[in-house]
Amino acid sequence: MFVDIHTHIDNQSVIRIVDNNFEEKILKTEGIHPWEVSVCDNEVPRLRLEMTAAIGEVGLDKVHKETFGKQIKVFEEMIRLSESYRKPMIVHCVRAYSEIIEIRKKTRATMPWVIHGFNSSVETMRQLLKHDMYISLGEILYRNENQAVEILKNIPIERLFLETDVSGRDIKDVYEKAAALSGWDFDFLCKKIFENYGRLETTH
Ligand SMILES: [Zn+2]
Repeated sequence: MFVDIHTHIDNQSVIRIVDNNFEEKILKTEGIHPWEVSVCDNEVPRLRLEMTAAIGEVGLDKVHKETFGKQIKVFEEMIRLSESYRKPMIVHCVRAYSEIIEIRKKTRATMPWVIHGFNSSVETMRQLLKHDMYISLGEILYRNENQAVEILKNIPIERLFLETDVSGRDIKDVYEKAAALSGWDFDFLCKKIFENYGRLETTH
């Protein structure tokens, strides 16, 4: 059983679950991406949240500095929805980890947040874990192996997810790569991540 906690199918951000017979289940997520905050001129468009598995992808991206103020406003609105609909969030974060932590503290959010495409230091990861967040790894496993090994050595497996995002990779390859780099047994890794997903799902 493989959980791909964050990928895109037909322009839709989704969670994809593939079982051992290669049957798949696609769960939609809905949210305003930090690159798309300009669509929210005066108000945030209505989202169809009743049927979604999670709110995502949402978050903060400092490469897009010109909209950063607006990104914060929209992100806070997404948090409000996440808390009131009791849905976990899939969070995109580029160079804004400290802001994400500050906002989680400030809003006293209690729903689980998965920081997808994590690509930072072990120290940053520890800060995120301290505030009850989950970490999802994808391209870092291929592009920055040394850093990925350090992260895998230090992360409690209960807080780990894996993803393909826009890479086009097979999720099974991503699990094999993470198992090879971490030393965890492949089946153990699959089982643990599926349990982590079960914990996310029962929040709502
Ligand atoms: Zn994505």
